[in-house]
Amino acid sequence: MKQINLLGKSVGIVTTTRVQHATPAASYAHSASRKWYSDADMPDAAKTDGCTDIASQLLKNTDIDVIIGGGRKYMTPKGTKDPEYPRDYSSRGKRKDGRNLIDEWQSMKIGKVAHYVWNKTDFNAVDPETTDYLMALFEPGDLHFETERDPNMDPSIVETTEKAIRILQKNPKGFFLLVEGGRIDQAHHSGRAYMALHETVAFDYAIAKGLELTKEHETLTIVMADHSHSVTFNGYPFRGQSILGKSPLWATDVLPYTTLMYGNGPGHKITNGKRPDIRDVNTKNKDYVQLAAVPMQSATHSGEDVAVLARGPMAHLFQGVQEQNYIAHAMAYAACVGADIRHCQGQTEAHAVHTIFTNDKNGAGAACGLPALLSSLLSALLALVVLM
Ligand SMILES: [Zn+2]
Repeated sequence: MKQINLLGKSVGIVTTTRVQHATPAASYAHSASRKWYSDADMPDAAKTDGCTDIASQLLKNTDIDVIIGGGRKYMTPKGTKDPEYPRDYSSRGKRKDGRNLIDEWQSMKIGKVAHYVWNKTDFNAVDPETTDYLMALFEPGDLHFETERDPNMDPSIVETTEKAIRILQKNPKGFFLLVEGGRIDQAHHSGRAYMALHETVAFDYAIAKGLELTKEHETLTIVMADHSHSVTFNGYPFRGQSILGKSPLWATDVLPYTTLMYGNGPGHKITNGKRPDIRDVNTKNKDYVQLAAVPMQSATHSGEDVAVLARGPMAHLFQGVQEQNYIAHAMAYAACVGADIRHCQGQTEAHAVHTIFTNDKNGAGAACGLPALLSSLLSALLALVVLM
């Protein structure tokens, strides 16, 4: 993202987690631990050695035009009351160094049109046409799951993705955008297939919005997952049955089983060698936790290959079976940044490229010199998800 930004293209991150979380942080921060959200999360030895927390790096490493997600509490001094949950102690500011990074960010943008917002009303009032910078932090930590989101307080990932693209695409040189459906992963960690699937559907709508707002001939869009989860799809449900339902067939223990299940996780309920009898259980409930073979407080990621889907200039680079580290290099190549840009020489500068990424990787780029904007939408079909 920094390399693309240095070329004069606009850059942004959109996530449903805190903006200091693993995937967005990887685009702008350098940290020995993914959990150093604020300085309060760091050991003294790390600070002594000159390490800095992820939230503070949000302001200084790359000139990020659009920052949208959660994570207010890592930006304000310890004890600072949250504007939305003033009575909730756990939502209060965390920083031990006394810095207010939101105020600092605003003071850094003097002379520009920069908006900081934390609720839907103020977010809706942001006019993309006149806005240079936007920082939107809708929760103290991660955002709510889509099905539990208050539409009057927080925008959907479709709305945040649209706002980001409309702000970034004003740059004639192009832009790079990372969009993460980050709570798909978190729902899977909890063994909650209902939540994971609804998060995935919301993410899918965001992808559609990204494709609608960009042109295929100038914007490389990559949609992918950074890894999968141990969720599995059991046969043989009848045609037309809910993915969250139960098999009409019973297992050899004379009990039904859900179509979706986990290899491990909090849903392990084997007692005395018997699975729970779910004949009278509503497995389509949003809080239902699918059965897991191995007991784990948090379900693990899993190791199979995940899908990478691409549209636009240089999309042909994203096919076949590839090691994950290939993706970043292919994105850089497509975006005309990095060590080898011979294929970009001779291009005119006027092309606009937008890229939209998806989670982990992707780049954008354009053939012959279009910049690209990556919209990185993470996750993908059912099982995949983002880092936890
Ligand atoms: Zn995870």
